[in-house]
Amino acid sequence: MSDFEGLKALVTGGASGIGRATAELLAARGAQVAVLDLDPEGVEKPLLGYRADVTDDESVRRAVAAAVADLGGLDVLINNAGIGAQGTVEDNDDEAWHRVMDVNVVGMVRTARAALPHLRKSSHAAIVNTCSIAATAGLPQRALYSASKGAVLSLTLAMAADHVREGIRVNCVNPGTVDTPWVGRLLDAAPDPAAERTALEARQPTGRLVSAGEVAGAIAYLASPLSGATTGTALAVDGGMQGL
Ligand code: NAD
Repeated sequence: MSDFEGLKALVTGGASGIGRATAELLAARGAQVAVLDLDPEGVEKPLLGYRADVTDDESVRRAVAAAVADLGGLDVLINNAGIGAQGTVEDNDDEAWHRVMDVNVVGMVRTARAALPHLRKSSHAAIVNTCSIAATAGLPQRALYSASKGAVLSLTLAMAADHVREGIRVNCVNPGTVDTPWVGRLLDAAPDPAAERTALEARQPTGRLVSAGEVAGAIAYLASPLSGATTGTALAVDGGMQGL
């Protein structure tokens, strides 16, 4: 029997990048997987797609309820939807701060709030949040994004403490620079995208970017009964970037 046979999972931001790789990996390992995304058009069978905006509580509640009804329950929530932001504290106005915190932090809270009553009924309940090395690395030009991911790290630890006695584990992954459409968009905005990519790769201790599949593997581990005694941890998936 595979690690995910019979498990029912919901992945936010699952139409692209890390979320998509995670949804596909869980499904390939035997889980039934629902994807919640702003744009679920490209989500293909066996994945189930649901349109929702994690900044809109009502749309999250509706999509989670529909997914749980179609899946017949919920064991695993992957809180992954997120957006980036560049610059120092002076480069982003209040509106930008509220927007990024709303998607990256409160978005996870809304999805968890909708999912927890269902997760309580599972005997293998797990939440995995997609955090970032930005939470602890002190990266330049990432003040807003780093603050949002710092909040995700703290949220993960607090939720792990709140729900451990209910049998719900809560962990996060801290990816480094991952080769996803998001990073592709950042590179495309540079004057010379190919040269920018080469420079970015050269800054990685491994000489390459992390793949979305490698982050999916770490998320899958934390979501599976294989990590049944692990809660309140952050697993780095950063090709050795952290602390260097
Ligand atoms: P991506 O842009 O490829 O995918 C993000 C997905 O989230 C998209 O499908 C998008 O439609 C969805 N989304 C965005 N806002 C949403 C909203 N309001 N409601 C519902 N869905 C929404 O990005 P990615 O690189 O795969 O990033 C996924 C997660 O990984 C994010 O939380 C990001 O912070 C984190 N992360 C990424 C990297 C990286 O280098 N790519 C590194 C560390 C952490």
